[in-house]
Parts: sequence; C-alpha cells; structure tokens
Amino acid sequence: MNRSILSADPKAASVGAVTPWVSAVVPIYNEVESLPPLIETIATVFQQNGISYEILCVDDGSTDGSTDLLRQLACQRPDLRAVLLRRNYGQTAAMAAGFNHARGQVIITLDGDLQNDPADIPLLLAKLDEGYDLVSGWRKDRQDAMVTRLIPSRIANWLIRRVTEVQIHDYGCSLKAYRSELVRDMNLYGELHRFLPALAFIEGARIAEIPVRHHARRYGYSKYGLGRTFRVMMDLATIFFMKKFLTRPMHVFGLFGMIAMLLGTGLGLYLTFLKLGLGQNIGDRPLLILAVVLFLTGVQLFSFGLLAELLMRTYHESQNRPIYRVREVVESENSLKSTPEV
Ligand code: UDP
Ligand code: MG
Repeated sequence: MNRSILSADPKAASVGAVTPWVSAVVPIYNEVESLPPLIETIATVFQQNGISYEILCVDDGSTDGSTDLLRQLACQRPDLRAVLLRRNYGQTAAMAAGFNHARGQVIITLDGDLQNDPADIPLLLAKLDEGYDLVSGWRKDRQDAMVTRLIPSRIANWLIRRVTEVQIHDYGCSLKAYRSELVRDMNLYGELHRFLPALAFIEGARIAEIPVRHHARRYGYSKYGLGRTFRVMMDLATIFFMKKFLTRPMHVFGLFGMIAMLLGTGLGLYLTFLKLGLGQNIGDRPLLILAVVLFLTGVQLFSFGLLAELLMRTYHESQNRPIYRVREVVESENSLKSTPEV
C-alpha cells in the first residue's frame, strides 16, 4: 500500500494511462477564459515530473460557454475527463462529483480560476508520500481583497481551528492532496468541502500543511461574497456536533434535558410547598413560569436526544457505515492459514 507516489512506475506515466496515479479534480463554474491555460499548466506539471495523471474537470452548470469548451477539450485530450452537472449545485457538490469519478489513488483538488499554482502539486505529493493522508495548501501570501476576504477569513480560520482542533492555518485553500480512499466515501453537504480536513480528522486521518503560492484572479469574477461567512459559521456548528456527539447524541441532549427537568421539578416542589404548606398565593409568581418552562424544555431535550439516537443508528446502519475506520490490518501469512479455535 505504501507505494511511493513520486517514484511511481515511469512507464505508467504515459498520458491517459488506464488507472492514473493522480486525479486532479477541478470544479468549474463560469471560468471559460481560464480553462485552456489551466489545463495546459496542470498537464505540463505532471508530465515534467513523470507522474501518471488525469484531469477531471467538473462543470457546475456554467452559463458562459465553459461547458462547450470542456466538452470539446475532453474529446481532444486523452488526459482530460469532463463531468458535466445538470445545473449549478455549488462547489461542494462539484467536488463530490469529482471525487466519485476520480480513478487515481491520490486526488488533488484545485480551483479553476488559476489562483492556485499547479507548480505546487509535486510539493503536495512529496509531503503526502511522507505518510500523510491529507496535505493542505496554505496561502501564506494570499492575493484577495482585504476587507471582504482576508479579514473574515482570518477570523473564520481562528474559530475553525479552535472548534475542530485541526491545527492548520488556511481552511479555505482549495489546493489539497488526499489519498482517494479517504474522501471517496465521505458524504459532503452544504459547503462542507471547506471542512474536509476536519471531517478527515474525525475519521482519523494524518494531516499536514505546506505553504503554497496564490495569485490574484486574472479572468472572471469570484463566486462568493461576505454572505459566505454566515454559511461557514453554520457549517462549523454542524461539524462541532459531529465531532463531539455524532455517535452519542443522548449524552448531550440527555444531560441538558435532565438538568432542566430537575431544576423545573425542584422549583415546582418548592412552589407546591409554599402553596400547600404555607398557604401562600403562587399564581402571579414569575418563578412558576420558569419552573414550567424548565420542565417542558427538559422533556423536549430528552425526547429529542432519544430521537437523535434513533436517527444516528439509521444513519450508520442504513449505509453500512461503521463507527470506526481501520487504517490497516497487520497479520502474518500463517494467521491466514490457521483458523483459531473458537
Ligand atoms: N465554483 C463552482 N461552483 C460554484 C461556485 C464556484 O464550481 O457554485 C468553483 C469556481 O469555478 C472555482 C472554485 O469553485 O473553480 C472557487 O470559486 P471562486 O474562485 O469564486 O472562490 P474564491 O477563490 O473567490 O474563494
Ligand atoms: Mg478563486
């Protein structure tokens, strides 16, 4: 399994080999001017380094002619495959489509707007070769607008780092390398591609980060604005829950539900004592409302936890999705021949 990536058989490095070693996955949404130089540069980098490859462009419902150009290029070039989506689904879905169609043992993702530099690909592969499952690029010298991009990104990265505990600087960088078995059966929703390192970390992946180059956009326009910040925060909340409680939701809902119910019951008993024991009037006391609200909230949280337990079991069992991921099984030849007595 630990076949070296860079020392892959040079014969296999011919263009369009049946199963390429590396698949470069590029989501494309209205990037018609960038496409020809992009594909040419990626191909040159792989060829110069003697790495067998395929380029997999996923057209995410472009309306500027990217679709036709891709179709045409893919017919001409044996090293290019185009997956054309029916409409615009968003970058995450486009990347997921790429992962599912990629044939390589290693997947490289990069943006279709030439902001990432394909010349960094061999560096990522070399790092992956050291035994990592995911290598992420770090746009140390990022070329984007300060107020709308860099500052929100700094804050988001800091927050994501705190929540996910994956110590990388730049979550937003698309230039990444993965071992393909890591991402192939990963389910991506919302804009979760940004959190792939965090999701991979939950699955026990070894993660590294290296600085990469970043260029200003030459053609077209950015598809995102400030609105992305909110969506990233919501996705972060999902990730936080998945990381902490995915397989044990009752531990969090049950705990808070129980605390609320106990507090509500305690207050209720106190008020009952005031009413029945001391004959006081409790009908106009805010404390009564608090007791009722606490008790009802507690019951709801508790039952929600039970439902979440059922959902979680359905989630894992309907997809045959084990709650663990095996890195490798080590055994001697003999252990295969002899079956231990039960
Ligand atoms: N993209 C996509 N679908 C979308 C939006 C973007 O496939 O709905 C692609 C886009 O073509 C580009 C990459 O995702 O290759 C990143 O988009 P963009 O460069 O606009 O993001 P930025 O670099 O400004 O964060
Ligand atoms: Mg970009």
